[in-house]
Amino acid sequence: MKTLNSLFTTALLVIAMPVHATLDVFACEPEWGSLVTELAGTRAQVFVATTALQDVHRIQARPSLIARARTADLIVCTGADLEVGWLRMVINQSGNDKVQLGKAGYLEVANFVPKIEIPVVIDRALGDVHAMGNPHFQFGPKQVQLAAEEITKRLVRLDLAGEPEYRNRLQDFTTRWKAATERWRAMGAPLKGVGVVQHHKNYSYLFEFLDMKEVGGLEPKPGVEPTSSHLNELVARQQTDPARLIVRSSYQSPAASEWLAQRIAVPAIMLPATVGGTAEAKDLFTLYDDAIQRMLKALKG
Ligand SMILES: [Zn+2]
Repeated sequence: MKTLNSLFTTALLVIAMPVHATLDVFACEPEWGSLVTELAGTRAQVFVATTALQDVHRIQARPSLIARARTADLIVCTGADLEVGWLRMVINQSGNDKVQLGKAGYLEVANFVPKIEIPVVIDRALGDVHAMGNPHFQFGPKQVQLAAEEITKRLVRLDLAGEPEYRNRLQDFTTRWKAATERWRAMGAPLKGVGVVQHHKNYSYLFEFLDMKEVGGLEPKPGVEPTSSHLNELVARQQTDPARLIVRSSYQSPAASEWLAQRIAVPAIMLPATVGGTAEAKDLFTLYDDAIQRMLKALKG
């Protein structure tokens, strides 16, 4: 009986000890890494698999990623086929049962948020990398909020002892995010109705949120490199459907956007693809601040 008691006491002591980094989280993209840090604080140690300077559609399943996935309690990724070229292999080779598809440790945000630009006809064979709809919803304020709620549910499921902290953090994030969303709407008001061309469809959610008018993409379809005939079409379109701004993201070559900028005499600018894409975009909040400010500044000339 004495042995049982002392065992019990030891167990209590273990539970009562301050907990640091209870969860090991593997985030496919910086936006989800940043969001997990907002929502878990020091209860999660977050590894981010990619950067804003990489084309996230074209990542290799490197051994270092497999090693990181091996120890993860939770994998948070975009889904909607964005990581189709590497994530499955990383998870399979990790041999980590906790993060397999269908387990509590596997979260594809795309399954919990409304997506735009879902093709009527799926033409993945023709090169469309957005066959499941646009996966770049880190620029959709509503989508980020829904992602925060779903991530919190998973954190609680995997680390029940942290539930009060996770609930508090979600509430705090929601309050700040709601206020920021209103601020961005006001700040972005001069962008309303502004015609814009984007290189890849990285910013469709932001354009929709700010009520901007997308005139076209430099890519004939998502993931297909700009062709000269397509670029010439964009030049011609300027007569009927004028753009005042051309944007590319932090991982794209400026060549195509600068070519068009010269032909149609409108500014071409770079926006952060996600958190870390510019020095200013340090987290999700400053990511939106920076993207909106860069567009406003370009319009002012
Ligand atoms: Zn894409």
